[in-house]
Amino acid sequence: MTGRLVIIGGGQAGFALAAKLRALKDARPITIIGSEDVIPYQRPPLSKKYLLGEMEFDRLTFRPESWFAEHDVELLLSTYVEEIDRETRRVRMQDGAVIEYDTLALATGSTPRTLPASVGGDLDGVFTVRDKRDADLLASEMKPGRRLLIIGGGYIGLEAAAVARHLGLEVTLIEMADRILQRVAAKETADVMRDIHAGHGVVIREKTGLHKLIGENGRVRAAELSDGSTIDVDFVIVGIGVKPNDELAQQCGLEVGNGVIVDEFARTSDPSIFAMGDCAMLPWKGKRIRLESVQNAVDQAEAAAAVIAGGTTPYDAKPWFWSDQYDVKLQIAGFNMGYDETLVRKGAREGSLSIWYFREGRFIAVDAINDAKAYVSGKKLLETGIEPSRAVLADPAADLKQLLA
Ligand SMILES: Cc1cc2nc3c(=O)[nH]c(=O)nc-3n(C[C@H](O)[C@H](O)[C@H](O)COP(=O)(O)OP(=O)(O)OC[C@H]3O[C@@H](n4cnc5c(N)ncnc54)[C@H](O)[C@@H]3O)c2cc1C
Repeated sequence: MTGRLVIIGGGQAGFALAAKLRALKDARPITIIGSEDVIPYQRPPLSKKYLLGEMEFDRLTFRPESWFAEHDVELLLSTYVEEIDRETRRVRMQDGAVIEYDTLALATGSTPRTLPASVGGDLDGVFTVRDKRDADLLASEMKPGRRLLIIGGGYIGLEAAAVARHLGLEVTLIEMADRILQRVAAKETADVMRDIHAGHGVVIREKTGLHKLIGENGRVRAAELSDGSTIDVDFVIVGIGVKPNDELAQQCGLEVGNGVIVDEFARTSDPSIFAMGDCAMLPWKGKRIRLESVQNAVDQAEAAAAVIAGGTTPYDAKPWFWSDQYDVKLQIAGFNMGYDETLVRKGAREGSLSIWYFREGRFIAVDAINDAKAYVSGKKLLETGIEPSRAVLADPAADLKQLLA
């Protein structure tokens, strides 16, 4: 036994796990194996300031390269793990090399869903945004006057639309569902975001799917939409969700659902293997969910680090999320799954608004649009379990501090 912790995936969760163990003064050998060719970095700016060209890559990295040697964390870059052998406790990499583990962590993240080749998904000029390479390729397409089609009205698609308009492109966004943000936010939030995008000149076409992309010499040129219309395009961004990278877990016989199934200690069905971040399916209020956020990647990884270091505290997810579009900051506290009621509150500042979600009369989440006070209050309410007064929420002049008094 080497006592070695091997972490597969050098992203948000993989890095947080190693960093937390070192912060806890845990001195075991740690190896991070990452398939990308750059040191660990944060992804959110890839569809925001980095794509806009307003943020350099070295501001995305969690730590400078020297941190890894200084903290005795071995980092294997450009290295893809192909197989886990639980019998011998070894992982095999694509070049055939093997490394032994005592404890293994799966922090493999997720992969954007793509369009099948049968509808033109394999044409040049069709992009997804997951890593630095994707964002760099995309940035080179973002030239004023070019025509961009975005498929999917989720956060990534809307953020990319905002960047593209800022850079002077013509943007059409299609959403197959009845409205944008259908999967993640209430109608009221979607209505505000739609208006903001329309005000910036994005053409949003809801209830409109893609029939197929049409290519010329292997490159996308036009798109046939489900309503029978055809639009000319120079390039396409596909933002139709992600799937968890759980193939390694499946192949070695771990319990897998929509992601690697873990318990409240981030342990998989094999007690020596942990999973965290986008690839993990965790227990939450009697259900199993996957959370695709920085908050979850970091907090779950840090909770796992404490367990690996000998602790016994379960991970209690306190979801929060944000999205930046134009000068609009959308901040979300809580998880609105299963909501059956919403309440809209106008904020004190022009353009600030919050949407409060309830399930069976209990407050579960808030979307705050340019309204930091609503976000902070909602987050505190969820942390303390205090139910907000509806009268205070309904009164735009009331101070939200009263909610916590
Ligand atoms: C463009 C974009 C914008 C986002 N914006 C926000 C935001 O505003 N707010 C927010 O909260 N969240 C945002 N997110 C989500 C957030 O970045 C993710 O939830 C978070 O990165 C998940 O961390 P992770 O460690 O699980 O996965 P990742 O950070 O994706 O890291 C996984 C790593 O594992 C590697 N890997 C996978 N398989 C293997 C293998 N077999 N061998 C070796 N390496 C492997 C991958 O290449 C990757 O480097 C955004 C994500 C994207 C892509």
